[in-house]
Amino acid sequence: MFCPNCKAEYVTGITQCADCNIPLVDILPEERKTEKRKHIHPKMNYMEVLITSNAGELALVKSVLDDVGIEYFIKGEHLQIAYSCADPARLMVSEDDVKEVQKILQQLTQEA
Ligand SMILES: [Zn+2]
Repeated sequence: MFCPNCKAEYVTGITQCADCNIPLVDILPEERKTEKRKHIHPKMNYMEVLITSNAGELALVKSVLDDVGIEYFIKGEHLQIAYSCADPARLMVSEDDVKEVQKILQQLTQEA
């Protein structure tokens, strides 16, 4: 059971989110898209797989990762928008996904 609001997972038998006070659902609306994603643990190790100041490249990589359902986050992206000469954006993925992402990045660069 999942809370559609905060996405918290509850054991079967619980029908309402303790935090949001709303009914739980069996499957989150995004479940289909995210089913391949691993559960995110706070202590999961993230590794840097790409450093770029090319916003187009970053957008392309992000859309590909969205398609295959790999969890990622960008370090420094908002800074880059505010200051064009700031540090480049760093693409971080969980260490479990590093090899797959590196393979994807390699294919992208070959196509370019
Ligand atoms: Zn909730």
